[in-house]
This record gives sequence, C-alpha cells and structure tokens, in this order.
Amino acid sequence: MIQLHDLEFVPFISSKEIKNRVVELTKKIAEDYKGETPVFLGILNGSYQFLASITSHYKADCEVEFTKLSSYQGIHTTTCVRQLIGVENLKNKDIIIVEDIVDTGNTLVSIVENLKALEVKSYRVATLFHKPEAYQKNIKLDYVGFEIPNKFIVGYGLDYDGLGRNLSEIYQLKH
Ligand code: 5GP
Repeated sequence: MIQLHDLEFVPFISSKEIKNRVVELTKKIAEDYKGETPVFLGILNGSYQFLASITSHYKADCEVEFTKLSSYQGIHTTTCVRQLIGVENLKNKDIIIVEDIVDTGNTLVSIVENLKALEVKSYRVATLFHKPEAYQKNIKLDYVGFEIPNKFIVGYGLDYDGLGRNLSEIYQLKH
C-alpha cells in the first residue's frame, strides 16, 4: 500500500504486466502502419511513460511529438475552448494519439476536433487505460492496453494532485 497526500492506494497492475501489454500493442501498431511513418502524438503530462515505452519497442520509422490541451474562455461565447498547443506540421500526417487513460472521453473529443482542424491525413487512438463504464463518446479506441473499472488509479504517468507519475506500476484507490 502507498499513501499520496491524504489518500491510500493499493497495487493494481505490475510494471511487468504493463510492459508485456505495451509490447503487444506496439506489435499491432507496427503491423497496421507497415510502410508508413506515423507520428506518435503524446498528450502531456500523463502519457509520457506510455509513449516512451511504445517508441522504445517500435523499430520502424516514426516521428514523436508532444502536445498539451490548454483551456480558455472563448472571446465571443461563454463556452470553454480547448486547444492543442505546440502542434505544427501535422498536416497530411498519420497521427497516433497517445493517451494515458480515456475516461468519459471529453478530452479525446477535444483532441480529435483539433486534429481535424489541422487537416491531418488520419488519426487513431492508443490509450493505456480505458474505463468503459464511464465512456460516453463514440470515437473508436484503436489500441487499448487495459479496460479497468471506474475507479481512480495512479502511477506510470498518472497522478493524484501532482504525485505518483513516477511510479512504474499502477495503484488503485483503496475502497
Ligand atoms: P476524460 O476526458 O476521458 O474524462 O478524462 C481524461 C483525463 O482525466 C485523463 O487524461 C486523466 O488526466 C484524467 N483521469 C481520468 N481517470 C483518471 C484516473 O483514474 N486517474 C488519474 N490519475 N487520472 C484520471
């Protein structure tokens, strides 16, 4: 058991299980993109460990980019606009969105809207974790590491209030 701030977490998925699954996913990606040069687009901060692991096992040509979603109030509306920052030159490229976790899918919808506006050639989604019970969208998740229950997890890039990203295994909130 570990404690981060005020909460206790119990071990859930070991680093060995994660590594084995990432190797499987990477093989599948390499088959699907044979002869192409995909761009692995890591969504910061949570995806950094997953993206590093995928690309260390991916032996064919690929590019690596990172981006972050920034939120700001629209100038003419009261709705919140979410924009990808630091992305240039994605036009006509084959993008693999690399996410740590897809929960409700709201974040993913914003990412996909941004990519469409940037006129990418294609996009697919790779996420290490997915909570099917919480997912409310219909964007296809092409590469899913683990489907997990609707419970809060930390580790391997995922944080609780800033802590836990450095852990090499996954912990689940106790209770
Ligand atoms: P969504 O927009 O799909 O609801 O949420 C996606 C984001 O919420 C993730 O990128 C992540 O930052 C955060 N998130 C969702 N579930 C969890 C979880 O179980 N643990 C942590 N640490 N973050 C989560």
